[in-house]
Amino acid sequence: MSNTTTSVPHGSCIPWQMQREDLLYVMVPAGEKGPTYKGWNLVSQGRRHDDPILAVHLLHGGNYGYYPAPCSDLLSLDVDDADTFHGAGGKDLVRETFRYSAWPDRRKYRAIISCPDIPDHYRGHKLPIRSDRDQTIVELFFPAGLEKTGGQCIGPLSLHPNGNRYEIYDPDASIMTVRWSEIEEITRIICPAIADSIPEPDYRAPVQSRGKTITERYGLSVMDTLPRDARIAGSEIRGVHPVHGSTSPGGNVAMNPKKGVVYCFRCAAGYDAAGWDAICRGIMPCGGTYDSAVMKQHLEVLNREKPEVRFLERIAWKRSRRRS
Ligand SMILES: [Zn+2]
Repeated sequence: MSNTTTSVPHGSCIPWQMQREDLLYVMVPAGEKGPTYKGWNLVSQGRRHDDPILAVHLLHGGNYGYYPAPCSDLLSLDVDDADTFHGAGGKDLVRETFRYSAWPDRRKYRAIISCPDIPDHYRGHKLPIRSDRDQTIVELFFPAGLEKTGGQCIGPLSLHPNGNRYEIYDPDASIMTVRWSEIEEITRIICPAIADSIPEPDYRAPVQSRGKTITERYGLSVMDTLPRDARIAGSEIRGVHPVHGSTSPGGNVAMNPKKGVVYCFRCAAGYDAAGWDAICRGIMPCGGTYDSAVMKQHLEVLNREKPEVRFLERIAWKRSRRRS
């Protein structure tokens, strides 16, 4: 990689660390933090760092945002409370990596790190780490999903609404590599009261249909509907129940995407992705039973939305009969 920038007079420019194939760019008006055009979050609308239209936009003093492309292993961190983040071990995590800030005291800044073992289920999302007192400490911008990104980050040298430019800490700093377990560990220190709190045995059996779980048949994920005010807490995501709400700090729902489990503390009940989907759609009350009436109604909805599932199953069934 050469130590140069895509230089443009008067406007911002993209630093050499970010001139990579796995970052996509969006155009942002000068002095603003986000794009104003429709469809900016579609991966198909993302621009490369050397895109000529982007270059003209920067030349005219525009800001820019970026996000890691699908398959990238980059993570962008928006640090909102540097003291708390550093106290929890974040200082070592980002010490040598590429950073920039629009605040002279650097109490708030942004960092880019590489994390080759980002859990797949986080792709396409943007999620904060919050303290037990509900303050946002850091926001994590994950790589885009196949079609959409969860959010974009304003790029270095852009103009902040406060009138400052986002200044780069060290123009020679590279993007450093971290392990996902190090990030999870920091969340445990920042929000110890709510991290990893799903009680192990209290999870109901996955809902079966035609010898498979409905989750498997329809490719459902607990991440399809996140709790409100979702935040990362250890290996889980915590937040407010989308149907019956919550007033307790940290919310009343925990999700373990790796295990495919959601747990409601108010109802003291756990679900797989199919059960959670039925609750979020209002087909089953939280705490209720996934009985045959619920299943019938749920399958009607799923078959309307994903007709290809039954179609492909029918083809596979015919093929297997022909063979036997
Ligand atoms: Zn509940």
